Amino acid sequence: MKTTIVGYPRIGSLRELKFAEEKYFRKEITAAELEKAAEKLRLENLDVQRQSGLDLIPSNDFSYYDGMLDTAVLLGAVPARYTALGLSPLDTYFAMARGYQGSEGDVKALAMKKWFNTNYHYMVPEVDDDTEIKLSDTKPFDLFSEALANGVKTKPVIIGAYTFLKLARFTGKKNAGDIAQSVVNVYADVIAKLSALGAEWIQLDESCLVKDMTAEDITFFKDIYTKILDKKGSAKILLQTYFGDVRDCYNDICALAFDGIGLDFIEGIKTAELVEKNGFPKDKVLFAGVVNGKNIWKNHYAKTLAIIDDIKDKCGEIVLGTSCSLLHVPYTLKNESKLSDDYKKYFAYAEEKLSELAELKAITEGECSDKLEANKALFSQPRSGADKSVTERVAKLTDKDFVRLPEFAEREKIQKKEFGLPLLPTTTIGSFPQTIEVRKNRAAFRKGELCEADYDKFISQKIIDCIRLQEKIGLDVLVHGEFERNDMVEYFGECLDGYIFTEKAWVQSYGTRCVKPPVVWGDISRAKPITVKWSKFAQSLTDKPVKGMLTGPVTILNWSFPREDISLKESAMQIALAIRDEVLDLEANGIKIIQVDEAALREKLPLRRSDWHSEYLDWAIPAFRLVHSGAKADTQIHTHMCYSEFADIIKDIDDMDADVITFEASRSDLTILDVLKENNFRTEVGPGVYDIHSPRVPSENEIENALHKMLDRIPAQKLWVNPDCGLKTRGEAETVPSLENLVAAAKNVRKTL
Ligand code: GLN
Ligand code: ZN
Repeated sequence: MKTTIVGYPRIGSLRELKFAEEKYFRKEITAAELEKAAEKLRLENLDVQRQSGLDLIPSNDFSYYDGMLDTAVLLGAVPARYTALGLSPLDTYFAMARGYQGSEGDVKALAMKKWFNTNYHYMVPEVDDDTEIKLSDTKPFDLFSEALANGVKTKPVIIGAYTFLKLARFTGKKNAGDIAQSVVNVYADVIAKLSALGAEWIQLDESCLVKDMTAEDITFFKDIYTKILDKKGSAKILLQTYFGDVRDCYNDICALAFDGIGLDFIEGIKTAELVEKNGFPKDKVLFAGVVNGKNIWKNHYAKTLAIIDDIKDKCGEIVLGTSCSLLHVPYTLKNESKLSDDYKKYFAYAEEKLSELAELKAITEGECSDKLEANKALFSQPRSGADKSVTERVAKLTDKDFVRLPEFAEREKIQKKEFGLPLLPTTTIGSFPQTIEVRKNRAAFRKGELCEADYDKFISQKIIDCIRLQEKIGLDVLVHGEFERNDMVEYFGECLDGYIFTEKAWVQSYGTRCVKPPVVWGDISRAKPITVKWSKFAQSLTDKPVKGMLTGPVTILNWSFPREDISLKESAMQIALAIRDEVLDLEANGIKIIQVDEAALREKLPLRRSDWHSEYLDWAIPAFRLVHSGAKADTQIHTHMCYSEFADIIKDIDDMDADVITFEASRSDLTILDVLKENNFRTEVGPGVYDIHSPRVPSENEIENALHKMLDRIPAQKLWVNPDCGLKTRGEAETVPSLENLVAAAKNVRKTL
């Protein structure tokens, strides 16, 4: 059995590429120096993979910014506003990625979107009626040749034609069908060129196949690939899928002339069944994605071998591989110098996953039985981090633990009386500007350069100032400002037993941005009160209600590396109980309004609609309900979501049973408000009235107009007035006038009611 991976990370194990690019952006190094740095990283990656014994090493998985953007450039889908700048190819590329503002002009970046169900974001290619699709770049050839010159015949990786056409934005009259033929021609060209250079395998990534496909989608796919495969040269073509199973088109893709098909056996809940039931064409190679490309846990060899065993008779040659590109995991455990071996022995980052593939291969060849035994032993011994009191608490949950009483309408009445807020109450989402001073003090405290007492004094003063400022502006429901928090997950994770933090486990989020998700290690419980001290302090400063500010269980889980030994549902319930404890603690300490942010709830919605409820919402929504079902009727529960793209799950959002929800709306076309109206949305709502992503100050007038539009669709008794999201990335200079205008606008509109 041979081995391969779908792709390798590229940002550098110590984020070298990020730093080199940022230097280039600041004009501290030249393009040639940046290219040199990139080449060095690629050759290091190549070497690590070669040393590991990997049989088929990918190339062209490197990117300066994003693989989809590279594909757009390859096809010549570069909007005229970027070429018009007259910059070098590299700078044109970066202008598409990041926007450009300078002597040659002023253009915004291409849109960016979440890459399937990951926290990685891709640049959305744009095609207009004048776009001329033609082979316009040499990167796949250059990188193949570069590796070949260094002794490795690689497997070039390119995002496939179908996925490109499905994800591109068509801004004119033309659609995907209109440009399909020219796209096909480019792919045929690329395949021919790579074949001529000596490539044996070419991987085309078509992860759009794991989404719901209509009959037309399938026909479109077949049409494209019948043409591409018709012209193929000597190189074998691998159709690579990931992030799920291909249940809608399995037999169709098996019938096409691909030489290999890559299937995801980790996230593809139906993959094994598909192969077992339908068989797999013996003349094709099955690339079996059995090592998880998205998580950091060691592979369970016995389980993996069982999968292989089950399908072995159904197919011909099998190549062992990862479930998706290793882009979504950190580089190497070698950089984790602080984490104890007691943890690390359970982990496998990208580099360690290469060793796993080598070991699995050896085991299937009858060697390395000691490795198999060691792996079995690791998984059979109980792991630290088990907490019986937590699992028992979850096991004891009954239906009534997920129901808050009295029901919504009753609570709404009680709360109107209790708070006596004006119509269209004004509030913010939580954070206030995290100035350099705030970040400096926190960093100094973390490094031990500032003692706890001094740091506390600093934070207290920031909170006092923040409360006074909000009173002066005239907001109705205040916040403490979140100055003590670095990050809305890490801050909570640090106070939860069962969480661990890594040192260098960076994962690319987009472009040069990386995140370092914490790890759910064991059973989760609240080690100590998390927010009570500062919330209580803030409330003591004012007669107005100050919102307690928490992160919800689904968001905490979605932005962490989750456990694999228990279900996501089980983890979500554990975290929900921990946050529930915090809610009750805040309530007991006199906090009357508590916001539980679920910024990332929408993010992990399964790729297939048919899986939305069974695989996700059926535990995610209850987890949120569990957090607040113990709250008293006169405690008001708010939630916040960053995007308003929840028209499809509007009933589920209402089912969260919060009293108030705030969300981003100023950049959307307000159709969400129609959806709220049509569905008789009962939760009170605060659709953001201005965009906090830009330093622009919205005028009073503008906000009034927005409010009138909202009032056309939402009853005044249910409407709140707030910005789109937290203000932490904003400066004080624009924050104060923006909020002043917001309050003035609300007051003006109130008079008309
Ligand atoms: N309460 C958080 C804040 O204001 C919410 C952040 C978010 O939605 N991403 O910063
Ligand atoms: Zn937000």
